Amino acid sequence: MNYQRQMRLVLLYTLKQLSGSAEKSDVMRYINDHGYWYVNDESDTRQYSRGENEKQWRNDFSYERIHLIEHGYMKPKVKRGLWEMTRAGEAYLSELIGEAKETALTGQPRITPALLQELFSEPSFEETLEDHRLMVQVSQQTQPADSGESAQLSDKPIPKGPHMVSGGRNVYLRDPSVAKRAPKRAGHLCAIDPAHPSFIRRKEACLYMEPHHLIPMSMTDYFGVGLDREQNIFSLCSTCHNQIHYGTKEDVRRLIQTLFCSRKREICAILGREIRLNELYRIYRVGEDTR
Ligand SMILES: [Zn+2]
Ligand SMILES: [Zn+2]
Repeated sequence: MNYQRQMRLVLLYTLKQLSGSAEKSDVMRYINDHGYWYVNDESDTRQYSRGENEKQWRNDFSYERIHLIEHGYMKPKVKRGLWEMTRAGEAYLSELIGEAKETALTGQPRITPALLQELFSEPSFEETLEDHRLMVQVSQQTQPADSGESAQLSDKPIPKGPHMVSGGRNVYLRDPSVAKRAPKRAGHLCAIDPAHPSFIRRKEACLYMEPHHLIPMSMTDYFGVGLDREQNIFSLCSTCHNQIHYGTKEDVRRLIQTLFCSRKREICAILGREIRLNELYRIYRVGEDTR
């Protein structure tokens, strides 16, 4: 992905986060605060005054904006200082995101891992839809999941599993028998707090719990390894599970932290690399860096 397209991606993506239009200074601040561009200037919080030299990267983005207007992806001057994307710009952005997800880690990336992680983490809506589908499958499975020892629990990274393509993105499939072992392994108690109440399942006379993939399956291509692993699946009570998807930033951070800290070593092992809590916050879009 060439330099220019990476700039366009950052600019349009940021505008999208700002509901399509924003003052130039807010766009720049957003890019900087979220560390989307390789030049991240932590001291750059003040408003520069006119006449003062603009930082080079700000200049570059202002310049790229002119190209985007020429191509119809951004609106020409609406109101002084206001930057706004067009419908065509939105479609173009999807194209750029697709390209970034395929190629941006190769060559000389100017966009940062922070941005890439956001691009890969889908809106939690789809993730919850997939969770739900999985719960239905788990409950429909007649064969007991514990037939034999749970297929040896390797702690090495494994290749990405099967996927289908939906809406232009790869959706990796979840294996109900893997998910079914998670609550069993946790003794059918909530991983956040074993005292959390639930109800008894009709069929199996154990407490009802729901499986949740801590590293979302949508991040499979980002990490390049299979994420449908027992180590990555936590058993949660309905309340905690809904909260991790829909709760306030503070609550979501607390839940993620509890889960992550309880299995940090195993999670890093199956990823084949270190991962920090901050990265997880970003993946769940509950980062603390947002002002
Ligand atoms: Zn979930
Ligand atoms: Zn709970």
